[in-house]
Amino acid sequence: PYEHVVEIRKKNLSAALSTYYNKPLLLHQGHMQWLFDHEGRRYLDLFAGIVTVGVGHCHPKVKEAVKKQLNHLWHTTNIYFHSPLHEYAEKLASRLPGELKVLYLTNSGSEANDLAMFMARICTNNYDIISLRSGYHGSSPYTLGATSISAYKPGVANGSGCHTTMCPDVFRGIWGGSHCRDSPVQTTRTCSCSPDSCEAKDKYIDQLKDTLDTSAAKRIAAFIAEPIMGVGGVIQFPKGFLKDAYQMVRERGGLCIADEVQTGFGRTGSHFWGFQTHDVMPDIVTLAKGIGNGFPMAAVVTTEEIATSFVRALHFNTFGGNPMACAAASAVLDVIEEDGLQDNCRTVGTHLLLELSKLRDKFEIVGDVRGKGLMIGIEMVTDKETQRPLPTEEMNFIWEDCKDHGVLLGKGGLYNNVSCFFFVFFFNLS
Ligand code: PMP
Repeated sequence: PYEHVVEIRKKNLSAALSTYYNKPLLLHQGHMQWLFDHEGRRYLDLFAGIVTVGVGHCHPKVKEAVKKQLNHLWHTTNIYFHSPLHEYAEKLASRLPGELKVLYLTNSGSEANDLAMFMARICTNNYDIISLRSGYHGSSPYTLGATSISAYKPGVANGSGCHTTMCPDVFRGIWGGSHCRDSPVQTTRTCSCSPDSCEAKDKYIDQLKDTLDTSAAKRIAAFIAEPIMGVGGVIQFPKGFLKDAYQMVRERGGLCIADEVQTGFGRTGSHFWGFQTHDVMPDIVTLAKGIGNGFPMAAVVTTEEIATSFVRALHFNTFGGNPMACAAASAVLDVIEEDGLQDNCRTVGTHLLLELSKLRDKFEIVGDVRGKGLMIGIEMVTDKETQRPLPTEEMNFIWEDCKDHGVLLGKGGLYNNVSCFFFVFFFNLS
């Protein structure tokens, strides 16, 4: 019974593991966009797991692929050859553009970003990592340095060599000072609210340039950024920002890492990878979450040149490229392709954004509706004039109420005031 689970949770699981809802759901089953709790109550999972089950919970084709692999071999590692790994490597590499053809498989997004940052340090012989405020790149010691949402590291300084700079947020504008949920909220708008026409773009670029040129960050190993910030609250950058940023980083000898953990695999609709929407070509790309539709799996993809230089470091991990995870990930790529899910993300996402934007016009507390494809965020404010974030208690009330009506949403934003919709890819409005 539920009460027994609560007891176990209290006694045997860390209180640092945050949960959603006053009475967290005890989940029993998942089928495509639906989740079912222990009492058989059905929920529409608009958070897609945690931005993970893009093609749906327990998708039949993915399940079939995993079951088939289960009968053959469920563990080996990269000291041996095995077909699921090699077939997947070829298939995934064929979906990446340009020179991005060499893969490393890991188990989580944090691990993938750790490896990417380490790789950049080895290859450039530089040490500094530059990231953007409100970005989330993981919870490991390395990646926490690049993650700048303070709730995840209260009172802990950035890891050595990690420097965070402003967040080029077209809704709120440049945020100055320290960034934690308790610090005064920056409400002065410096932007015109649209990624396509942002007057403040040059200001953002100047700030980034300052960071790159400070004495602390003169030996740049890498610049890491998500093409659209996910945990930060579906934050979109001004058009051209990432392109200019990549150029400045490269001029100073650094590599550019695209964290595609949330934006990858067609979620943004118009392109298969988020970085393509910015017309940039990263040196290293990191993938996780949707890659295995829930199976623990992640990847780092880079160029042959960088991979060759990284050979200096012996790289090993026990579970990376696990046969079951590779079988699942391979089926995910097939399903996205066969079912036209990227197109679906574009069509449905465009329609949803249009319809949800009408809420912004209608309600004072809907500050912004934004996103791309099926990666959508609604930023809630006390009023449009001050743009103060809606207090956490009120946000919790909204999330709780949605849950009680059978709809699960994600949470995001520095002030926890962004409702995130990361719909499953096949979501159909009809
Ligand atoms: N990068 C991004 C953009 C993420 O959203 C996350 C997870 N929220 C991570 C990295 C870390 O992934 P994981 O939790 O699998 O370590």
